[in-house]
Amino acid sequence: MDISPKLAQRANNQCELCAQTESLSEFSISDQAVLLCEICCNQINTPESLEPNHFRCLSNSMWSEFPEVQALSWKILNFLKEQSWASSLKEQLYLDDLAQSMVDELSVLEVEETNQSTTKDSNGATLNEGDSVTLIKDLVVKGAGFTAKRGTLVKNIRLTNNPLHIEGKVNGSQIVLVSNFLKKVT
Ligand SMILES: [Zn+2]
Repeated sequence: MDISPKLAQRANNQCELCAQTESLSEFSISDQAVLLCEICCNQINTPESLEPNHFRCLSNSMWSEFPEVQALSWKILNFLKEQSWASSLKEQLYLDDLAQSMVDELSVLEVEETNQSTTKDSNGATLNEGDSVTLIKDLVVKGAGFTAKRGTLVKNIRLTNNPLHIEGKVNGSQIVLVSNFLKKVT
């Protein structure tokens, strides 16, 4: 595909992400385009082969004045958010409405939002089936007629469909506990 002279000029004939000058092509976003090198383009289109360190270049390119470059940068950083450098860059990247709408339209590098289904205790530690927890505050157990005291140990918890709730046995009753009020015993 021919590169529009306007795009080539604004990009200074460089990849707008990593600044390479070889094998450039247009990458379409909404009705705009970003000039990308072959490496960036291939990695974005085949996330399995994405090399996180290649995209450390985003610490520069995400500050581009062009919303389509910002949107693409955001999408890559979001894909790499398990890497601490990427998630801290992503936090710094403010998107205006136009850039955000481009993010929403971009169908590359989709991330399954698995984090939201993880059950976490009051300290953010992940709770797993069979873990032991203690209560960090007194809980009135409705229907069972007792108060589970702060510090009560609950062994062998069960996860529920709701990531905010676990089930455990307190005073011989299987009850639902709010994960926020628990501390994992390790
Ligand atoms: Zn590149």
